Amino acid sequence: MNFIIKNVLIVTDDDYATVDVQVVEGKIAAIAPDLDVSGTVFNGSNKLLLPGFVNAHTHSSEMWQRGIMSIFPLELWLAELYDFAPLDPEQVYLSALGTATETLLSGGTSVVDHLVLIPGQELETIATATRAYQEVGIRAFIAPLIQDQSLAAGIPSGESAQTHEPYFRSTAATLEIIEEAVRQFHRPDEGVSMLVAPTGIQLCTDALFEGCIELSDRYHLCRHSHLLETRAQEKLAQEKYGCTAVEHLKRIGYLSDRTSLAHCVWLSDADVAILAQTESTVVHNPLSNLRLGSGIAPILKYRQAGVNVTFGCDGASSNDSQDLLEAIKIGSILHNVTDLDYQHWITPRQAVEMASLGGAKGLNMADKIGSLTVGKQADLVLYDLTNLSLLPRTDPIGLLVLGRPTNVVDSAWVNGKQIITDGKVTTINVDNLRQELFNCSQWQTKRKSPTVAQLELHYRTVMGL
Ligand SMILES: [Zn+2]
Repeated sequence: MNFIIKNVLIVTDDDYATVDVQVVEGKIAAIAPDLDVSGTVFNGSNKLLLPGFVNAHTHSSEMWQRGIMSIFPLELWLAELYDFAPLDPEQVYLSALGTATETLLSGGTSVVDHLVLIPGQELETIATATRAYQEVGIRAFIAPLIQDQSLAAGIPSGESAQTHEPYFRSTAATLEIIEEAVRQFHRPDEGVSMLVAPTGIQLCTDALFEGCIELSDRYHLCRHSHLLETRAQEKLAQEKYGCTAVEHLKRIGYLSDRTSLAHCVWLSDADVAILAQTESTVVHNPLSNLRLGSGIAPILKYRQAGVNVTFGCDGASSNDSQDLLEAIKIGSILHNVTDLDYQHWITPRQAVEMASLGGAKGLNMADKIGSLTVGKQADLVLYDLTNLSLLPRTDPIGLLVLGRPTNVVDSAWVNGKQIITDGKVTTINVDNLRQELFNCSQWQTKRKSPTVAQLELHYRTVMGL
């Protein structure tokens, strides 16, 4: 569909301009004042047009446990999460719809779903999430979460020699599932891309990482992983490799300009230099890091070293929302307390660029999305500057990033296709989705996790608690 947005505010280098934006066959065809009208006309008056943001790290099915997870650090939190993980593809479907909807309504047009797979129904899980994202029309990057070691292996051994049960599926079988998923579902031109995504060094062998590198090279896939989210993982890397996790990942060849790494809280200065040199992307998940007490990722240091940084919500069990604007706000101002030199602090305009172009770079898509540039795909979000939460009128970007914008997305397009109109997602029935989420859940308060009971004493000992 061809359309034109008339008289809309866009961001220029250090100011704003009012222009018309013409979209032809899914691409931005022209940006200038007073363009001739071609196709459907949208009135952009009193509205701000930005490139869509990327929700660069989340786990959609965690939505089922938001609000109820214990106040735990990651390792124990994960044990609880696994004990209550949804095992029904219908739940995967609904939470993918929910994740996509909340991402879109907070300015995101792309989502990276580090998708937890239902054991024994792995391909079905991936097929279901793919279907949900295609129905909504958000640009989806599906990163099936894989590991080949059992959960207890993710906690350092400390003084005690720990042995762990083998993982229930072989490394080779896991890699076969991923390759089959790539064959069936990797369709970048249709808005669905598969990523290789071992969960992290804490639960994966080198054989799994190497298998993923091979698949990534053969099928031109981006790579994703968690990295050094907690102090326990930093300790574990030393036990496992005798060096830092970043040094090890560099040695085995996992780091590259199409590798994005979630969290990156516990890195040494030498590690930061490696990320810069390999052009890897850091995905900052500030809310999850706060919720799980993981720490404050030294984002300002990464930016000064030239590392590309973008934002993610992380799964809704460690956040407990999928509001990308909230993640961008906290992820920007959190660092004003870590660095006295305010000249390094992240400005609202920088935050917007990190969330859009930064996200695109991490997915090897910087030439296709991430900015309002003629020739790029029309992944666009139109914000209503007359919304109460963006008034009175001052600096639109400042209001959007530093305020608490509520229901401010007027319209959104992915690949030139309109998905939000008048503040409502139009591709799916959101009222039905609300009803289904309500019907498939119940009020809960207390749960007991058997895996936490097994692991807690050892965790406390090894962490000196
Ligand atoms: Zn995560």
